[in-house]
Parts: sequence; structure tokens; C-alpha cells
Amino acid sequence: MKTHLHAEFAGLPEAAEARAIVGKCVHCGFCNATCPTYLELGDERDGPRGRIYLIRQLLETGQASANSRRHLDRCLTCRACETTCPSGVEYGRLVDIGREALETRTPRSIADRILRRALRLIVPHRRRFGALLRVGQALRPVLPRKLQRKVPLPQPRLPAPPTTHLRRVVLLDGCAQAAATPATNDAAARVLDRLGITVMRVAQAGCCGAVSYHLSAHDEARRFMRRNIDALLPAVEAGAEHIVSSASGCGVLLRDYGEILRDDPDYAEPAARISALTVDLCELLHGEDLAPLRRAQDSPVALHLPCTLTHGLRRSDMLRDVLERCGLQLAATRDDHLCCGSAGTYSVLQPAMSGRLLDNKLAALSLDQPTCIATANVGCQLHLATRAGVPIRHWIELLDPPEKSPPNL
Ligand code: SF4
Ligand code: SF4
Repeated sequence: MKTHLHAEFAGLPEAAEARAIVGKCVHCGFCNATCPTYLELGDERDGPRGRIYLIRQLLETGQASANSRRHLDRCLTCRACETTCPSGVEYGRLVDIGREALETRTPRSIADRILRRALRLIVPHRRRFGALLRVGQALRPVLPRKLQRKVPLPQPRLPAPPTTHLRRVVLLDGCAQAAATPATNDAAARVLDRLGITVMRVAQAGCCGAVSYHLSAHDEARRFMRRNIDALLPAVEAGAEHIVSSASGCGVLLRDYGEILRDDPDYAEPAARISALTVDLCELLHGEDLAPLRRAQDSPVALHLPCTLTHGLRRSDMLRDVLERCGLQLAATRDDHLCCGSAGTYSVLQPAMSGRLLDNKLAALSLDQPTCIATANVGCQLHLATRAGVPIRHWIELLDPPEKSPPNL
């Protein structure tokens, strides 16, 4: 598809990149078959091919409408379309560029702007998010049942393993996960200790930048990225083998730091270094001898595969393999490639579509009546827990000795 850039986009590197991505699309429409919003709504403009047309129109005319933005807002950025596309269209990158261009051309309502601003001011900031969460937890008993399910119970903390090993990795604490599900990284530290790996925690590292980036605040996101690079590099210099993310949503963005900051004269090289060293927790375990973690699991666990793990990192097979090698019995599920509707802040900004996708996902995970659902990303974990009839845990908690496991969400 040939795109003639409008004069106001001429010379802009991101517009040229978008044009190159659009140029790969051959309009086959295969991607529509795996797009959750197209499957729900059946409207071409709510599928990847239609959204690519809308972005192309913007690039050619320099004009955008609120209607175009509505269809782009409904996109989950789940990237299922990328996995399906035979032509290698990098839709996730394209929609980020398209959204930022739209944002400055079509003003949003005041209510929408306040909500988006509030999300950016709270979620990426561990202390602010934690304080708000504690208020919610204190009020939980008097909240309506529907709201209660949205506030996770506090998780008790367990001390870090006292031993130190020669092998060390940095474990990212991030923002929302550190406040809402700290048991995940506590469990990761104990499991890695049993494999002879010591976990380093870097207090100055924080949000990966995903919340801002996907809300089209790219400069703000880059500030989070630079701060993380400054915080993580000393640990790398001190001998950390990897930067490990236990939240696939954060890991996928860290892997993109090098690409996103490639034109930054001061950070291009360190960003590429951080990206190259970043692994998801399941990738790290996959390369290890997992015999010390083997355990008998008599009841089936349904495995939820976040889009960031499946379509972003493409590591879902690795996670399955790790869990099976550790003796877990995985329940039958279907439509693993479809998003649960969490998608960062999507569940707040698009609650109706998010709720539909959540109901579909819970039905798809419940085929075998599992006793527990395991996932690999904090956002999905909290979202699934709002309606699930069984506990939702991060998968690493299932490899932690049962007598030490904290209570369920
Ligand atoms: S990212 Fe997901 S929701 Fe968006 S167009 Fe692709 S498949 Fe559809
Ligand atoms: S599958 Fe790829 S090439 Fe085909 S319409 Fe979708 S994005 Fe374009």
C-alpha cells in the first residue's frame, strides 16, 4: 500500500516509519480473524486492517476525526494481529505512532482528559498507587460487592532468602505490581534462590513507562525509561547476568527501550544494552535445571497467557514448558491467543468491551474446572480476579513451597 505523506508529516522520522509499516500491508484481512474487537463488533474499522486504513488516511490528509480515534481507542494493542499477519506488519508500533498523531489533532472531552491524566499521575508511581490501594483496602468491607472485587487484598510479605550466590540477576519491581502483588517477586526471589541465583532489587528503578507510552505521552514515557536505565546500569556493571521481569507487560517494553531511544544521543547505547539483557522470568527458568522445583500437582491449573507474553515476547510455549517440567498439570483451555480485556489501562477506559472480553476469557479458562488460574502479568492477574470464581495467582507462586505461599487474591 503506497502512502503519500501530507506536508505536515514530511521529514518526521516517525511518520516515515509509519509509512514503511503501512506499505507492508497487502490487505489480506487474515488479521481480522484473531482481533478480539473485530470478533466482538464485526466492524472493519474495529479490526487491524481497518485501523491501518484510518492511520494511512491521517498520514495522507493530516486530518483526523473523533470517529477515527474512537476506533483506535477500542484497540487493545494486544498485537494478536501481528502474530497472524503473514506480511510482518508491525501493527503495535504503527498504532502507537498513529495514536500520538491523533492525540494532538482531535481534542478529547474534559472528562476523558482528566481520567487519562489521573491514570498517568497515579498508576506509574509506586507510592501514590500504593497509598490509593491502601485506602481502597481499608474501605473494602463497606464497598459494594462489584467494587470490592476490584480492590485486591493485601498480600503478606516474606523475608528475602538469607543466602547469597555467585550468580545474580536484577528483578524489576515496577510500579503496580510492587504495590498490589508483592508476593510475586517475593516468590521469584525464593524460587531463584533454590536454583542458586541471588536476586538484586534496585529501589530507584520504577515504572517501565508502558502506562504513559500507551496513553500517547511518549516524552513522559521516555523519562521513565531514562530513569530506569540510570538505575539499572550500576547493577549490570556489578555483575548482574540479566534484568528479569516477572510482569510480561513490563518486560516487553524494556525489550523495546533500545528501539524507542535509538535516536537519543546519550541513551541509545545504554538503552540497547538494557534491552539485550532483559528476559522474562520464564525465559530465565527455561534455561535452568528445574529438578529442585519439581512438585506433585494433583489438581489442574488453567494457564492464562497474557498478550504481552504471547504476541509481544512470543514466549508462551516456554512458560508452558517450564510449568510442565516442574510437574504442574495444565488444564485444557481455548482461545489462548485472545486478550482478557485488561490491556494496561484499557479496563478503565473501555469498561464495556473489557468486560465482554473478560467474560469470554474466564469461560475459555474454565473448560476443565481448574482449581486455580495462573498468569504472567500483574494487570491481567488483577483484572481476572475481579470476576473469577477461583484464585488467580502469578505462576511463580505455584513453584514456591506451599507452606510459604501467601493467601490468594
Ligand atoms: S492489537 Fe489487538 S485489538 Fe488492536 S487491531 Fe490488533 S488484534 Fe485487534
Ligand atoms: S494480515 Fe497483515 S497484510 Fe493482511 S491485512 Fe492484516 S496487517 Fe495487512
